[in-house]
Amino acid sequence: MLARLRFPAERSRGRRYPEPEHPYRKAFQRDRDRVVHSRAFRRLEAKTQVFAPGLSDHFRNRLTHTIEVAQIARTAAGVLQLDEDLTEALALVHDIGHPPFAHAGEEELDRQMARFGEHFDHNLHALRIVEGFEQRYARFPGLNLTFEVREGMVKHSKDFGPGEAPELDEYLPGMRPPLEAQLIDLADEIAYNTADLDDAYSAGMFDAEEVAACVPRYRVIHQAVETQFPGATPRERFYESLRQLIDWLVSGLIEGTAEAAREAGLAGPEEVRAFPKRIAVFTPEASAASRELKRFLHAKVYDSPALNEDRHRSMIQIAELFQFFLERPETLPQPHAERAAAEPAHRVICDYIAGMTDGFFLRVWEQAMGGGDKNLFSHG
Ligand code: MG
Repeated sequence: MLARLRFPAERSRGRRYPEPEHPYRKAFQRDRDRVVHSRAFRRLEAKTQVFAPGLSDHFRNRLTHTIEVAQIARTAAGVLQLDEDLTEALALVHDIGHPPFAHAGEEELDRQMARFGEHFDHNLHALRIVEGFEQRYARFPGLNLTFEVREGMVKHSKDFGPGEAPELDEYLPGMRPPLEAQLIDLADEIAYNTADLDDAYSAGMFDAEEVAACVPRYRVIHQAVETQFPGATPRERFYESLRQLIDWLVSGLIEGTAEAAREAGLAGPEEVRAFPKRIAVFTPEASAASRELKRFLHAKVYDSPALNEDRHRSMIQIAELFQFFLERPETLPQPHAERAAAEPAHRVICDYIAGMTDGFFLRVWEQAMGGGDKNLFSHG
């Protein structure tokens, strides 16, 4: 397979603050473990993935989505003989910078920051979390993760050239990230497409025939399942088809990546970095199916009136809380109020809101909107 392209852990550029090696855990294993023990990781449990909790106990949240991405990414990395620990650490950390209310939250924070000529980007926010906001270790700020994990965090979903993102200059602009990091974006895509299909089916937003009409690969699988399990209920046939679809997409990622590496003639990990394109790709068939799935989900789920209404409400609430704090930065809890006195308040407010879970956001918003200036922050 691609063992020759595996990122050699012993050639890591290391940590910002040098640390002695652990007697039995390797550097990327420690990174993974630090992510799992962070507060930002635990908060993923109470952040919306697509469906707000309440209607069902079975919808994914951002934590269970993250675990599914890690499962898929680790499977692919294992078969391809890449560094599974680096891949797993990157999968577990990949959504840690997401604000409350999924993409609505990200879009609204970005819009608020645009008023000040700035942006909100969840990957950059994730970097700020692991570099500073997590205060768990006496010897250094943040989690002191290795260079490759930080690089993978900012590059997993997009590349950037020299000068494009000055704050990321140290992360080898113009270079591809290691193959382990390249896998994350597509593992994420497989996980969210299939999970959103599952959750939306459970919510009664469509039936299996509608999926089959729009996604030819699903139709092929579904027909085979019908022949093979004639006595199964529609629900059982849907779940059986879905698990086969996940398996087929993961195989498409593994085969597509192996083929791209062969075609590019890459001999080592430095060549992965220097190669002008990403090597982690789907086969053309899996890529088409993934696009069709996405199109189906947009039409039936993401752009549905129910989700649009939720999204719209969340965006208004975020805009309201943002404005509330802009006018009263002194009411931010510590250490945010102190930071807001020394730095631009909009940046501090953005960081504060971005870190919130959905539930915590709603409590703060309710107090802010209903309670005027009365003791907002007994919650600490
Ligand atoms: Mg994700």
